[in-house]
Amino acid sequence: MAECEFDIFISGGGIAGLVAAAALGTAGFSILLADPAPAPRRDEDPETDPRSTAFLRTSKALLDEAGLWPALERHAASLDMLRVVDTAGWPPEITESRLFLPDDLGETTFGWNIPNWIVRAEATRIADSLPNIELVHGAGFRSMLTRTGQAFVTLTNGRRVRTRLVIGADGRESPVREAAGIGATATRYGQKALAFEAEHSRPHENISTEIYSEGGAFTAVPLPDASGMPASAIVWMNFGARAQALAALPESDFDEEMTVRSCGLLGPMKRLGPVRTWPVISQRATGMVAERTALVAESAHVLPPIGAQGLNTSLRDISVLLDLARTDPDALGSPSQLTRYARSRETEVSLLVRAVDLFNRTCMSSNPGVQALRRQGLVAVHGIAPLRRAIMRAGMGRLQPCPDALVPHI
Ligand SMILES: Cc1cc2nc3c(=O)[nH]c(=O)nc-3n(C[C@H](O)[C@H](O)[C@H](O)COP(=O)(O)OP(=O)(O)OC[C@H]3O[C@@H](n4cnc5c(N)ncnc54)[C@H](O)[C@@H]3O)c2cc1C
Repeated sequence: MAECEFDIFISGGGIAGLVAAAALGTAGFSILLADPAPAPRRDEDPETDPRSTAFLRTSKALLDEAGLWPALERHAASLDMLRVVDTAGWPPEITESRLFLPDDLGETTFGWNIPNWIVRAEATRIADSLPNIELVHGAGFRSMLTRTGQAFVTLTNGRRVRTRLVIGADGRESPVREAAGIGATATRYGQKALAFEAEHSRPHENISTEIYSEGGAFTAVPLPDASGMPASAIVWMNFGARAQALAALPESDFDEEMTVRSCGLLGPMKRLGPVRTWPVISQRATGMVAERTALVAESAHVLPPIGAQGLNTSLRDISVLLDLARTDPDALGSPSQLTRYARSRETEVSLLVRAVDLFNRTCMSSNPGVQALRRQGLVAVHGIAPLRRAIMRAGMGRLQPCPDALVPHI
């Protein structure tokens, strides 16, 4: 089959790949994005991905630049406060509870929560409407051959593409990462995250709630009301066997356990739709670039789902790539541009992976000494204003040079 030329080839049409396509396409680059999965269908996607993403302010800026925000805004619930609760025992007893407010940082909100399936569907629609973007569904990346000045990509349907830059946005098992000869190191915690949507009798008042207990965090992030009832996106982390047992419970028993685990803060809770289970891992690629190749998002880093860091970190990868490409379009995919990308991202990613790893270990621990430390940490962080602000800033993606600011309590 004949080769064709695009400025950029993107492997992977998850949220990261789609946002990269929309942002770089809006900046004027020609793009081919390929994903072996079928195109998202609005009526199916809530079943396949019941997660939501809490987009922080830095991410909103990129969604704006990519032309996506106006379509997403109406589906977003604003996150106006963060409540962090520590518990002990079962049924969990609240031992500490603290509220964090965005106006501490001169902001009106921490971010906006939007269901993943809506983001994928809208990003696909908008990317597809740009004349310089071609989206291919049903065929993915198979192999590539890189040279100093260009890369040749072959898709699983045999199509060949010549390009200046290959972006690997193809997830945890990234085939582009493998083809580029980049390794990855992973840590497993023996935990699984249950993700689903739930309605509850008490309004969430746009407060995002994280409740720590042995086995991991239980997080309820506000969603717009579901058929007149307050609703939240839930991520419930547990040791693996307990997570599997919970997922297998009849619905009414599941709802009862969830209400107990949430300490009744939102009133009686009821699951909406299916529950999906994700293994909790930390993973980092051994590098973020290779000849004519850049890795973004989960192909480069995977974080445990606490503190809304995963996709927000991924969108910061894309912002940096976009800035570099716009500043010097002729150097797209060149060694100097890719080196700048790697330098700009690798330190932050490495610090973040270590910080979230430590934080998750502290959250899941059943050791009473560690649990006491966690409680004291929460009280200290909340009580010492400069520390509180530094950590809130770090959690919102504004990392300070001081490594002490990297304990992500939000
Ligand atoms: C329970 C849970 C809750 C989370 N909550 C948050 C949150 O609130 N905030 C936040 O910032 N992050 C959150 N995250 C993290 C976030 O969901 C992920 O970082 C994000 O979904 C990953 O997106 P991605 O595009 O990198 O990867 P994926 O969504 O995995 O997309 C990869 C794509 O690559 C495609 N692909 C596979 N093989 C090929 C191939 N050969 N060729 C081309 N394409 C291929 C796949 O089909 C897929 O579409 C959460 C994660 C979990 C598990």
